[in-house]
Amino acid sequence: MNRTQNIERIKNEDFDICIIGAGASGAGCALDAALRGLKVALIEKNDFAAETSSKSTKLIHGGVRYLEQAFKNLDFGQLRQVRHGLEERHIVIKNAPHLAHPLALITPVYSWLEGLYFTIGLTIYGFFARNDSMPKAQWLNKKETFERIPTLTPKLHSSVMYYDGQLDDARYCLALAHSADQQGVAVVNHAEVVNFKKDSNGKIISADIKDLSGNTSFNIKSKLFINCTGPFADSIRLLANYSLEKRLRPSKGVHIMLPASVLKSKDAMLIPKTKDGRVVFVIPFEGEVMVGTTDDEYKNLELEPVLESQEIDFLLDTLRPYLAKVPERSAIKSGFGGLRPLIASSGSKATKKLVRDHEVEHDKTSNLLSLLGGKWTTYRLMAKDTIDDACHLLSIDTPCTTEHHYLVGGKNYQFEEWKKIQKEYQLDADICQHLLQKYGTQAKAILKYKSTERLHQEYPFITAEIIYAVQEEMACSLRDFFARRTRMELLDWQATYDTVPKVANLMGKLLQWTDEQKQNNISNYQELLKGFIKSADIKVK
Ligand SMILES: Cc1cc2nc3c(=O)[nH]c(=O)nc-3n(C[C@H](O)[C@H](O)[C@H](O)COP(=O)(O)OP(=O)(O)OC[C@H]3O[C@@H](n4cnc5c(N)ncnc54)[C@H](O)[C@@H]3O)c2cc1C
Repeated sequence: MNRTQNIERIKNEDFDICIIGAGASGAGCALDAALRGLKVALIEKNDFAAETSSKSTKLIHGGVRYLEQAFKNLDFGQLRQVRHGLEERHIVIKNAPHLAHPLALITPVYSWLEGLYFTIGLTIYGFFARNDSMPKAQWLNKKETFERIPTLTPKLHSSVMYYDGQLDDARYCLALAHSADQQGVAVVNHAEVVNFKKDSNGKIISADIKDLSGNTSFNIKSKLFINCTGPFADSIRLLANYSLEKRLRPSKGVHIMLPASVLKSKDAMLIPKTKDGRVVFVIPFEGEVMVGTTDDEYKNLELEPVLESQEIDFLLDTLRPYLAKVPERSAIKSGFGGLRPLIASSGSKATKKLVRDHEVEHDKTSNLLSLLGGKWTTYRLMAKDTIDDACHLLSIDTPCTTEHHYLVGGKNYQFEEWKKIQKEYQLDADICQHLLQKYGTQAKAILKYKSTERLHQEYPFITAEIIYAVQEEMACSLRDFFARRTRMELLDWQATYDTVPKVANLMGKLLQWTDEQKQNNISNYQELLKGFIKSADIKVK
């Protein structure tokens, strides 16, 4: 991926489609459109997946809770969503098996009746997943439950285990953008669409773009513009046509990161009902344990939704009835917040009752196409619906082929290859496994840079990944590297803080930062991390 070259192309060429926003929705649309032979540009204000798409619970699921609500309310719309999610689940895993995999989830129950209820529900859930081979739900007795998660409370009666998918959301999005780039999409991050230009009929013909990395501006000409800005979609809709009504009602969800000792398991736990009637997941992720999420309306989209102290209290309280020993606040290593791009439905005030589904909206006045709502799990379906509509508007008739398209690093992926890499490069097992799981068949492309020194003694990230991230994955800032190319910021704020100068030294050389720029980048990012710690009101070392 070459940012400079792609910007030159954008300045000099005309496009069929310009996609605004490179989260799951935009990156998914870009790949879909390019595979149909269209000439596409993908413009991202921040970094790939920098907003919601790197801050999800990282589950690929039909939604157990939607199934329950569908039956309770006889709501066939929700049932359809569950079925779509489960149909997509196996495609998400199949196309990038290095970044997504099946995950066992265990729901502890406190009585025989509760066990029966969940076994029936989760068996029906499995029944909707007709096209994959994930194991079906199973009722485990107390002993079997403790064999899988030894840290649970002895007060439980038994548990019900079922399977869903888990993905590395930021790297999955990057793999989509990278795959789109390989198909000829002019992909650019750190570039914001700030204005539209229109013809005499009021239709958008070009957009002004501010290059936030190079501090310049340029213009892109395209037959069609697609708004994939997730929770920020209203601002682009209104930029195109100020008379449109707002459609989104973003809701904030946070996660906290705890040490692996909280679960001592490779399985996840599902807490079926919180005080406010939702589910909470306790999930192993990259060697730590992630707990989330919350659900609160969020108004100020200018501000990053960060983890706050009372949200930690809520999540720790939710864990209390399920664990033998609830971790102290001091055990928290980091946390993150994201904004669900929910479409507002009339009437209901509670965001948890709004329907999580997607919609493709065409504004006839400006000719802007907007993809609204949705979830990670159905990103491919959302992209298909959007590009079907785009093709219709462009009078093109080509079918979607993303169902059978492997993402970068996914084709012929075999996890066991890590052993060969270990033998050839004489590296620690955890480093080889990490490289295989994050880069798939591209793992050796990182090792061609030869620098295999660990960035931090507790984590498997190595120096060569910095070079690869800058030269081949368009990393432009320290946060691009720590939060999305690797997931260190999500795992451990203190380790990230300590490693910033080391990464800045090499990144600065590769990106030709002056000493002053390097120092500013270090202090800005470290200040940001300090701000997160302060807002969460936790003590790190
Ligand atoms: C807490 C939480 C947990 C979730 N858990 C799950 C889960 O487990 N499973 C699941 O399937 N889904 C989950 N979701 C939902 C899922 O994460 C989102 O639906 C999905 O990531 C949204 O992707 P998006 O591309 O639409 O939006 P985003 O990822 O927010 O992308 C929009 C992009 O547009 C860019 N942008 C904005 N304005 C401009 C501009 N002017 N110019 C250029 N670019 C611009 C932004 O920088 C951003 O990167 C969760 C969401 C949250 C918040």
